[in-house]
Formats: sequence, C-alpha cells, structure tokens
Amino acid sequence: MGLTSAKAAIDAGLEVTLFDPRPGLGASFAAAGMISPGSEFLGGFAHEYELSAQSAALWPEFALSLGVPLHRASTEVVGWTSGDRADVERYCATAKTFNVTTERVPRSGSSFDLSPRVSDIWRFHDEMFVDVSVLLERLIEFVSSRGVIVSERVVDVTDSEHSVAVTTSTGVRHFDRCLIATGSEKVPHGASIAPIVRSVRGVTLRALGNARTPGMIRAFVDGRQIYAVRHPDGMVVVGAISDETNSPRVLIRDMKELTETVTAVIPGLGDAEFREARSGLRPTTSDARSFFHTNSKRLAVTSGYFRHGILLAPIALRRAEAFWRD
Ligand SMILES: Cc1cc2nc3c(=O)[nH]c(=O)nc-3n(C[C@H](O)[C@H](O)[C@H](O)COP(=O)(O)OP(=O)(O)OC[C@H]3O[C@@H](n4cnc5c(N)ncnc54)[C@H](O)[C@@H]3O)c2cc1C
Repeated sequence: MGLTSAKAAIDAGLEVTLFDPRPGLGASFAAAGMISPGSEFLGGFAHEYELSAQSAALWPEFALSLGVPLHRASTEVVGWTSGDRADVERYCATAKTFNVTTERVPRSGSSFDLSPRVSDIWRFHDEMFVDVSVLLERLIEFVSSRGVIVSERVVDVTDSEHSVAVTTSTGVRHFDRCLIATGSEKVPHGASIAPIVRSVRGVTLRALGNARTPGMIRAFVDGRQIYAVRHPDGMVVVGAISDETNSPRVLIRDMKELTETVTAVIPGLGDAEFREARSGLRPTTSDARSFFHTNSKRLAVTSGYFRHGILLAPIALRRAEAFWRD
C-alpha cells in the first residue's frame, strides 16, 4: 500500500520519499496474488464485495501502467466432506445474491487433476491473479527511479500546521504531506489516529510443477480452507494458514498442514519441486474492513486490507490519489 500510494503521488507530479526498512517484504511478499472478488465470498467477505469488484475492474489498467502480466483464470471451488460441500453451496448461494456468476460442473471439467473423491466443482469465471514478486519488483523500480526509497524504520511522525516531521534513527525530515501505510505494524504517531489493527499470520508455499494453463482452486477440507494458484510456467502457490500472532514465522506444522491438505485434493502436486515458504502478517480491523483515514490535510493512515491487499491495490491507489490531490 505504501509503494502503491507512492506511485499515486509520483503520477500526480509530487516529489516522493518512501521510508521502509524492508520494502516489498511485508505481508504482500507472502501473498498468493489472487484477484478473485467472486470466490472471496467463501471466506465470508460479502461486506467488501462491492469494493473488491470495483478494484478488480481497475486491475487491467493498474497492471498495464506497471508492465505487470495479469493472468486471467476461473477459480474452481471444491468441498471434501459432505459438510464442506454444504458450506460451499451456502457461500455460492450468497454470492449469487450479489449477481456473481458461478456454475456447478462435474470433476471432469476441472483444469486440475483432482482426487476421485471430488465429485463436482463450482466455477467462478473471469477472475485474475498476478505474480506478487513481479508486482513488488515493478513497484519498487517505479518508485525508486522517480522518487527516493530510504531503507529506514520510521519511529515517529508528528504533524503541525506547516509540515509533517518524520523521524528515523538518522534524524528528522520535514514534508508537506505524509501517508502512513505500515500494514500490521503500529502506526508511529504519538496520538491514536487510526483504528486498531490486528495481525493474522498467513503462509504460502511455492513449488514447481509442470507448465499448464493458469488456474486457481479453493478447497474446503474438514472445515479448513486452502487454495492453489497455478502459474503458466508451472509454479504453484499453495496457501494459507490463519492465526493471530505478531510473529511471521513458518512452522513445520504449517508445511505439514498445507502439503497434506493440498495433495489430498490434487494428488499429483506431491511430485512438484518444493521451492520456498513465505509468511506474512495480514493487517485486519475489528470489522474486517480496510480504511483510509485522513487525520488532517497533511496526514493520513491506510491499512486493514487483510486478505485482499493485492486485490484492493487499485482502490488504495485511488484513495491515495484523492489525498495527494486535495
Ligand atoms: C499468506 C498470505 C496470502 C495472501 N494472499 C492474498 C491474495 O491472494 N490476494 C490478496 O488480495 N491479498 C492477499 N493477501 C493479503 C495482502 O498481502 C495484504 O492485505 C497486503 O499485503 C497488505 O498490504 P500493506 O501494505 O498494508 O502491508 P504490508 O504488505 O505488510 O506492508 C507494510 C510495510 O510497511 C513497512 N513498515 C512497517 N512499519 C514501518 C515503520 N515504522 N517504518 C517504515 N516502514 C514500516 C513494512 O516493512 C512493510 O514493508 C495475503 C496475505 C498473506 C499473509
């Protein structure tokens, strides 16, 4: 969100300095890159649907402006037990009330080699995904070539009538305006100027399988949800874990849970070559809604993008555009 908001400021012709000790290595680094507003209903996010659908519509233009390849695919949804299938049907029924198109097709219609135990799938058409490593690389390239990235942690932000003072370990700098986007981390401002943000840990695994058509699948297995995103080069991203903690570690039991569950549903994935495990802290609020809070003409805070920060990036860009312009 910081990089995207910096892009909005640069596009508006402003001089930009972005402070981040680890740019591109926050929660976004671990994200699966799914831009799938329809199938997000399965996670119970009906309340963010309108915003998500608007954002998804803005993604092609956003991707083009950064030269990020955007992959189009349908998302397949499957249930493992009869209880899981009942959950899927319930979520799909809610999605239909928002005019989201889903269709039920037999397992033979899947683009994944599913376990024979799966009888049928629900398909959500016209969804998308990106490679988040490419997205973050392009955003960092864009911002560093037209502005300045300072790899330092901000320890204090203080706004006054004439400027905003930003303090890091190397000193204080003054700016005309400042937007704070620290994800799940504490806002470095003395006063409480934004809703409280909690951290929900997530883990994704990356493995290399055979090159195939792009595809996404979400599975309900014994009440747990997992997903897999298959890139055209055969890279498969599998996620995700969900627990509240401030520590973005990858535990051995995460690997066990993800690999056992995904290979039950797609047995052939057991032969994919393990490459990497990534973990991140999703920032969420008590009502699970993202926010853009303008504290004064000079200072704003944005966060709470929870499971949708990649999907909602173009909305974050629009919100930042309005702040830099007004
Ligand atoms: C496993 C996983 C899978 C996900 N999959 C998806 C997905 O498929 N689709 C989707 O839409 N979303 C997904 N998400 C959610 C998405 O990644 C987040 O919503 C998004 O990354 C939030 O962006 P952010 O910029 O607010 O936070 P972050 O990405 O965490 O960035 C915050 C940045 O602020 C910096 N920072 C913090 N404190 C300071 C400070 N004091 N000074 C300077 N810099 C500071 C950090 O170093 C970091 O770089 C996923 C998340 C996880 C963890």
